[in-house]
Amino acid sequence: MRFPFALTAKIAAHIVKQKLTRTTKFALVLQLEPLHTCNLTCTGCGRIREYSTSLKDMMPLEDCLEAAVECDAPMVSICGGEPLIYPKIEELVAGLRQQKRIVYICTNGMFMRKKMRDYLAGIYSPALEPKLETLLDQKLISTKDAETIRKGKSDNRPTIGPSKWMYWNVHIDGLEYTHDLIVEREGVFKECVEAIKMAKILGYQVATNTTVYKEAEVKEIEQMFEFFSSLEVDAHTISPGYEYDAAKKDMVKRLGKQPEDFFLTRKMTREKFKDMEKWADRFTIIGTRVYQEFLAGKRELTCTAWAIPTRNVRGWKAPCYLMTDGHYPRYQEMLEKVDWEKYGVVDGVARDPRCENCMVHCGYDPSGALSTNLSDTWKNMAYNFSAKPKPYYAGKSVNAFNGFSIGKGHLAEAKAAINSPAGSCGSGDSSEKEKLLAQIEKKSQS
Ligand code: SF4
Ligand code: SF4
Repeated sequence: MRFPFALTAKIAAHIVKQKLTRTTKFALVLQLEPLHTCNLTCTGCGRIREYSTSLKDMMPLEDCLEAAVECDAPMVSICGGEPLIYPKIEELVAGLRQQKRIVYICTNGMFMRKKMRDYLAGIYSPALEPKLETLLDQKLISTKDAETIRKGKSDNRPTIGPSKWMYWNVHIDGLEYTHDLIVEREGVFKECVEAIKMAKILGYQVATNTTVYKEAEVKEIEQMFEFFSSLEVDAHTISPGYEYDAAKKDMVKRLGKQPEDFFLTRKMTREKFKDMEKWADRFTIIGTRVYQEFLAGKRELTCTAWAIPTRNVRGWKAPCYLMTDGHYPRYQEMLEKVDWEKYGVVDGVARDPRCENCMVHCGYDPSGALSTNLSDTWKNMAYNFSAKPKPYYAGKSVNAFNGFSIGKGHLAEAKAAINSPAGSCGSGDSSEKEKLLAQIEKKSQS
């Protein structure tokens, strides 16, 4: 089976229950944002920009757990900001697991290895030594890390351990050069790969989470899947980038980029995703066949944003993960008060101009899953119940480390200029750095 039976059955049972009780609007996946703080500043991230005035705020643990109970989504995607910065992330994951929910931790990967070391310290016994040896051999932990693990944990807090109900969902937007460029920091891709390797050795389930922007070439997306499939990653999510207002403004002001140079229009999305079904046949891509056809431009769908609601420090965000017309204190209140007919694109016509280029999974993937059309239901079932694609081990030969690791990162030119004597960027004066980076990025676009 393409996805673990228990998980598929849980989601299917939830949909059937809603149909039997004639509930028309309900949650399938809760996007839980306990905080908006992040250690990165990715280009195109609407979160850290839209919520820039409340970056220090956090949802209390009880509110996070209550939100899951309130909307009763079988799956919770913990995002942010960077959720591994949330001080009670371990308790949150444990609490959601107690509620018997499927948990995805959407992370940029930078703190994953630390959390896995904590887990190892929590379960340490001499029987773990062969595992530590493997991690040491592959340089995924240092000798000092191993010593710390051997000392065990000094507190009684839970840790995040492997479970068939939990996935690390690692943000990867391309191969090394592209990914590091988009996250605006060199070395991030390399760290993500190391974290994924460590997670697989320890028995975690790992997914990758990709947003496709204009700069990602179709060939590169395919190579990215091939490479991560060779690492035996369990699943992939992929969605076209959406032009957040806040991200657009930031792009113009800070990077000197025009939004149309970065975000995809509907037409461009269909072009980039034309091979979506082929990718889904080769790789374990999460989502419905119907949504894949939609991305490939073979059909229209209507937005069902209420099925993947977002709860954050300000409340239930309406109408969707991307657009904010208000926050509501309760999920049910949001369902009742929002005029859902105002949003989405129907038969190619945007009901709201801001929806015009949106084809993101959190608006349209549930539309595919909730179809009442028998042929669509059959298509989705056939996709989910078909055999899981085998890892593509030939993907190890993909030239994934094509940037920072070989000294050709997107900052290479800037670093050389900043470190050079007067005449280029001016005697190491880093105040020119942003301007220089913007110029370099512009050049790489042309
Ligand atoms: S890692 Fe995620 S939350 Fe952080 S800046 Fe990047 S996209 Fe935004
Ligand atoms: S189409 Fe739906 S998910 Fe997309 S921006 Fe509009 S309301 Fe949000």
